[in-house]
Amino acid sequence: MRLWLSSRSALIGLYLAAVVVLSAGVWVYGYVQALDQVAARGRSDLELAADRLVTQLQRYREFAVLMARHPMLEALHTGGDRALADAMLLGAADMTGTMTALYADPQGHVLASSNPAVPQDLAESPEFRRGLEGALGVALGLHDGQRTISFAAPNFGPDGKVCGVLVAVVDVAALEMDWRGTLPPVYFTDAGGRVFITNRSELLFWKRAGQGAMMAPDGARYGVTPQYLAGNEIWQQGWSPYVPERALYLTTPLPVIGMEGVALVDVAPARRLAILQAEVVAAVCLFMGALLFFATERRRTLSLANAVLEARVSARTRALSETNEALRREVLEREEAEEALRRAQADLVQAGKLSALGQMSAGISHELNQPLMAIRSYAENGVAFLQRERPEKAGEALGRISDMAQRMARIIRNLRAFARQESAPVTRLDLGAVLQTAVELTETRREQAGVELVWKRPAAPIWVRGGEVRLGQIFVNLITNAADAMEGAMQRRLEIEVVAGAPVLVTFRDTGPGIAEPERIFDPFYTTKAVGGGEGMGLGLSISYGLVQSFGGTISGTNAPDGGAVFTVELEVWDEEAVA
Ligand code: ADP
Repeated sequence: MRLWLSSRSALIGLYLAAVVVLSAGVWVYGYVQALDQVAARGRSDLELAADRLVTQLQRYREFAVLMARHPMLEALHTGGDRALADAMLLGAADMTGTMTALYADPQGHVLASSNPAVPQDLAESPEFRRGLEGALGVALGLHDGQRTISFAAPNFGPDGKVCGVLVAVVDVAALEMDWRGTLPPVYFTDAGGRVFITNRSELLFWKRAGQGAMMAPDGARYGVTPQYLAGNEIWQQGWSPYVPERALYLTTPLPVIGMEGVALVDVAPARRLAILQAEVVAAVCLFMGALLFFATERRRTLSLANAVLEARVSARTRALSETNEALRREVLEREEAEEALRRAQADLVQAGKLSALGQMSAGISHELNQPLMAIRSYAENGVAFLQRERPEKAGEALGRISDMAQRMARIIRNLRAFARQESAPVTRLDLGAVLQTAVELTETRREQAGVELVWKRPAAPIWVRGGEVRLGQIFVNLITNAADAMEGAMQRRLEIEVVAGAPVLVTFRDTGPGIAEPERIFDPFYTTKAVGGGEGMGLGLSISYGLVQSFGGTISGTNAPDGGAVFTVELEVWDEEAVA
């Protein structure tokens, strides 16, 4: 689990790292792309500014060229009026916005000027010298903090030589006026690298001091960190709030006026765009990652729950199959026990029957003896009647003998049936017939005890489920018990009653003293009779209980409210359809 957790955190970490790398890549790529656009725009801005400057200056250059040949100025060489020339120059300068216009002879002496206050000797000024050479001179100038650009144009005399030079001085501050503060910051440096013209006044006269700094005219150094990215140079500085902190450094040469134009184009928009792109990519990746994460988490949770469930199910199945096995064993043991019980019961039944037979033996011998004696006397009578030649009487005696023999045969048949070990299962029985046999079997016992029997065999058969011998044994036992119980009673009457229904009820009601301990009578070996005296073993009722149950019936014994015991046997009706 811990291993899995750590591998999961490692995966998440790896994914986040990948997202960071990808976003960084997107940032760099986006930045470079955006920089190119910014650079293109900045370059066109710079070109525009440079063009404007050059165009503005062009005017003054042309002014110088045109004015140099002015007749009033040429006249000065042949004694012309200076005052007139001065006035003309002043007017022309005012009209064109030129700060000062001068006309000098080849020695540098000013012959005419729009401003009498300016120096009257130009011999040393570089633009004048260029003019003298017959070319167009240009020079930057700085006088008392005032920046100027001077153009010098030669005037050729009739001999083709320079006879005079016109110098037009332009006020740079006036030029700058229009585009001060416009975007982006632009400056133009002179040949010495000094900022001479700019739309950011704070940068004026700053000079590049090596790679890493700019130096202000008061000597203060302002740091600049150049960075190079895909062919672009980016300056990072904190010079002024009006110069972008990070700016693309773009240059363009202005050979016409010997200057170099520089633009510092803000890269913040490019950075913002690149950051936005990187952020979008990171957000999309994180969102997808989160989706993926939650999906796998969900699947993992489900599979975990599944595994737990499966483990539980298999544990439960194991427990169930163990229980099942135990149950099967128990059933087997129970079946064996039942089998043993059945055998024991069969033995007991037999033992009970033998005991009953023992008890009945006196009665049986009496029962058989009586018809035997009668047969003997009827036989003797028959012989006597034959001797007296009275065959009809002899025939009568013989008929009686036959009756007696039949009676004996029935008794013996009943006894045989009683002693037989019944193996047949439950069958269909006529309850009346079984009761009748039991009544006949116990006749002698009843007579001995002087018991009056109230019993009427039902006219129609009542079919019940049972085993003939066993059911007979139950009834014999109940009748014998009643006779035993009523031995010393005043009134001795036994009522046997059959109530047809489902179940069929058979009640044995006697007028004896009643049951002493009704809850114990079905316990094996429970008896109130003298044991060993051939009287009781305490097995009769317990055997009967088991037998009735084996037929699906019940047996119960209670005391009647008006005295005497009542035994009830419930038997299932023989249902032909159910059996089929
Ligand atoms: P045994 O007859 O050998 O004693 P039984 O199981 O048949 O064994 O009877 C158990 C006991 O139930 C008897 O000893 C007797 O006390 C009581 N009992 C049975 N039938 C009656 C009855 N009709 N009236 C009173 N007591 C009875």
